[in-house]
Amino acid sequence: MDSIDRRTILATGALALTSIAQSRPAAAQAGPKPMFPVAAITIPIVGETDVFQVRRIYCIGRNYAAHSREMGSDPTREPPFFFQKPTDAIQNVAIGTVADHPYPSLTKNYHYEVELVAALKSGGTNIPVEQALDHVYGYAVGLDMTRRDLQREMGDQKKPWEIGKSFDHAAVLGPIHPASKTGHFSKGGISLAVNGVVKQSSNLLNMSWNVAEQVAKLSEAFELKAGDIIYSGTPENVGPVVKGDVLLCKIEGLPDMSIRIV
Ligand code: MN
Repeated sequence: MDSIDRRTILATGALALTSIAQSRPAAAQAGPKPMFPVAAITIPIVGETDVFQVRRIYCIGRNYAAHSREMGSDPTREPPFFFQKPTDAIQNVAIGTVADHPYPSLTKNYHYEVELVAALKSGGTNIPVEQALDHVYGYAVGLDMTRRDLQREMGDQKKPWEIGKSFDHAAVLGPIHPASKTGHFSKGGISLAVNGVVKQSSNLLNMSWNVAEQVAKLSEAFELKAGDIIYSGTPENVGPVVKGDVLLCKIEGLPDMSIRIV
């Protein structure tokens, strides 16, 4: 460079070429850039500064016999079935707060379903039941909010009931508690109260398929990965809410989780 004066460099474009050559490796690594940013969806973890990044939300249907009956199904232990909610349907609720939860559009019969949520730190396919809990990072209290009228309408027409389950804010949950601190949840009370009146009350023991079995079964259908969370089904006595209602969700061994319908 010393032997070439600045004027020559500018005239020949050598400087520009040098800068392109230097920037090429970095550009090649970065690849095409997204047109716009899309936010990562995360859930706080109790006692950790790191957050849990969500990859997929799986939900299990009719996992308590008494709830199967109220939904019009045979409560015998048929294989669990699954559906998904979009990842950005998550509404995080901090411990000790009552989060405002918007009453969604299109429905006149908006239902609560309190559920245990399991969060995976790893995954795989065809995971044996005995190894399934090794993949569970932690647990949270969740609400699988449901536009019941739309779900039923679509079900009656034998159409997918996505619109009843997969909408904005439909996946409510508290922060994740590492299983290393709480242990795994196979039993314990689970309940939901509306305006102080208990509506749902059961025990995790009543799940037809426990979390280990859910992980094993899910992994037969999908390759599970770190960041997947599983809503493990709701007990009986689901019901409607209206604006102004306050919901209080409890699972023995986890802090309460509460929202207000607005
Ligand atoms: Mn549910």
